[in-house]
Amino acid sequence: MAHGRIVIDAERCKGCDLCRLACPPSVIQFADFLNPKGYRPAMLVDPENKCTGCALCAVVCPDACITVYRYQAARQSSKVA
Ligand code: SF4
Ligand code: SF4
Repeated sequence: MAHGRIVIDAERCKGCDLCRLACPPSVIQFADFLNPKGYRPAMLVDPENKCTGCALCAVVCPDACITVYRYQAARQSSKVA
């Protein structure tokens, strides 16, 4: 299972909610502060590392505020024959 994390540009986020609604494991929430535009920016809240790096949040963000990083577990080699 891949794991990931995202970085959201909080200064440019307009709080449209699309990323939060698109996130399968629901690890995006809104901050309790306002950014310079007057919006509560989205932020990753993922204490259990549920983000898979699927990038759905980044795809739906109309302002390209989200950068996605994905980490793939090292493959184990297995002897077949
Ligand atoms: S990359 Fe996928 S799992 Fe991670 S925050 Fe975005 S939508 Fe959610
Ligand atoms: S989709 Fe983009 S602009 Fe909308 S809340 Fe998420 S990060 Fe902010």
